[in-house]
Amino acid sequence: MNKAPSRVRVAVERLPPEGVAVDGEIAFAGLGVADDDRVACPEPLEYALRVAPVQGGILVQGKLRAVLRCVCDRCLTTYDCRLMTDDVCHLFEDTDAKVLDLTDEVREDILLAFPQWCLCHPDCRGLCPTCGRNLNVETCSCASPSNGGDVWSALGGLQVPPETE
Ligand SMILES: [Zn+2]
Ligand SMILES: [Zn+2]
Repeated sequence: MNKAPSRVRVAVERLPPEGVAVDGEIAFAGLGVADDDRVACPEPLEYALRVAPVQGGILVQGKLRAVLRCVCDRCLTTYDCRLMTDDVCHLFEDTDAKVLDLTDEVREDILLAFPQWCLCHPDCRGLCPTCGRNLNVETCSCASPSNGGDVWSALGGLQVPPETE
């Protein structure tokens, strides 16, 4: 199996007026994006771009696709997170380059699409703070918001620490 290339390069010396389609994939390692303990990037990023001559430069437009392996912030389950960016748009003005290197642009665009919070599901119920059970897959008998008004009675029991001088 071939490893995905580590840069996105396009020959632009003789671009036809309608431009050229540039499709491919690039390893996240090539983008300088390293895995951390919340987000891993096991699959290469896919790009589908169109590179076309325009007045005063070269226009790059298109989309990026990637699948991240994330750890949910609430329940600590590992899940796949699909990233999609359809509005890649970069203008290279007055370039006389024979080859455009789009690696930095692709890196920026995909990093902007990275999730700020990792949630396996928008309403992930998380782990019970008392017993640690994953409330998405089982219930527990600890007081929890799903048991009607328990959350309010639990709040009512909170002690507000006296103000100190
Ligand atoms: Zn979750
Ligand atoms: Zn519990």
